[in-house]
Amino acid sequence: GQCIMACPTGALHEKRHSSDLQSALHNKDIHVVMQYSPTIAVSLAEEFGLKAGKEINGLLNAALRKTGFDKVFDSTFGADIYIMELAAELEHRLKNSLTFPMFSSDCPAWIKYVEQWHPELIPDISTCKSPQQMLGAIISEYYTKTYHINIDNLYTVSAMPCTAKKFEAQREQMTHKGISDVDAVLTTRELAQFIRLNGIDIHQGEPELADFPFHIRSSAGKLFSVSGGVTEALIRTLHFRLTGKELQQLRITELRSNKDYKEVKLKIGEFKLGFAAVSTVKQAAVLIEEIRNGRNDLHFIEVMACPIGCVNGGGQPIVDDQTALKARIKAVYDLDEKEPIRVAHKNPAVIELYKEFLGEPLGELSMKLLHTSYKKRDVSL
Ligand code: SF4
Repeated sequence: GQCIMACPTGALHEKRHSSDLQSALHNKDIHVVMQYSPTIAVSLAEEFGLKAGKEINGLLNAALRKTGFDKVFDSTFGADIYIMELAAELEHRLKNSLTFPMFSSDCPAWIKYVEQWHPELIPDISTCKSPQQMLGAIISEYYTKTYHINIDNLYTVSAMPCTAKKFEAQREQMTHKGISDVDAVLTTRELAQFIRLNGIDIHQGEPELADFPFHIRSSAGKLFSVSGGVTEALIRTLHFRLTGKELQQLRITELRSNKDYKEVKLKIGEFKLGFAAVSTVKQAAVLIEEIRNGRNDLHFIEVMACPIGCVNGGGQPIVDDQTALKARIKAVYDLDEKEPIRVAHKNPAVIELYKEFLGEPLGELSMKLLHTSYKKRDVSL
């Protein structure tokens, strides 16, 4: 394998040690790809003195290409794949009368909390890797093969709203054949600093599209940035899976308040289902206690550790008033009204990927690449 820096341990998987992004970008033998979180594009604007909440995907794509990334992908594509797998998993549980509720798995701070403090819940956590890790695995296994890139020369970077994603990328369960799905993670603030250090003026560029073949996203994937969004996106695709029809009213207002507990009850096909979205681990603990005391009306629970979700994540631009935060949330919901593709299962690039490569959600390849496992973790770790 190609090692950018001298590997101090001589370990087998040098790729994990090649942590110097600048070296990678300057080494023409290394194929460096970036994927950025749906949250980044609605919050980075503030770092560059643009109006809070302005969605700058196009300008960001252009700026990242100028810094030398070979490909720039939007992790929202990974969020769409996450929804495809999550909806199939919930359907499987419903049709096989498995235990409920099922919990979401895309917030690594929540996963770590369960592993440390509630290992008894591990069987109830969705086995889906987070969108960052799913896209990382697809880049490693599909993109490299399709575009004839030597995987040993691949270096994958994510830009994410929180430091918990750094921890997630290093989990031993997030490797495939010993190779990590994601090599390095930058927070939103670090990404802004990185662009500045490279002397790029983000305002000067012309908007550009993300790269093929992960260039199309649904607005359902964008909803992941706000608490309640994963659930809303899930319901849209679950409805289609269970009934064969699209949900008439895509916007679910019960899931759009800024409270740290939201719920909605829906009849979908033959199933009466309860969905809850919780933001903060404190609120999750309250709900876990209620379930322990016999509450049994919920089938799916989304947990995000940050109040209001990733728009308010620890690696985000720091806001001292609520105006910027509200603007970020508004940007996400505005996009959902405007975008042509509003459900994950209608994203043509997602459909193509399943047709060409993955097969079916929860199929053999999906289970191998896109799902993970959890383990009880010592509290001191
Ligand atoms: Fe990270 Fe917070 Fe989002 Fe969880 S809710 S993934 S900790 S930003």
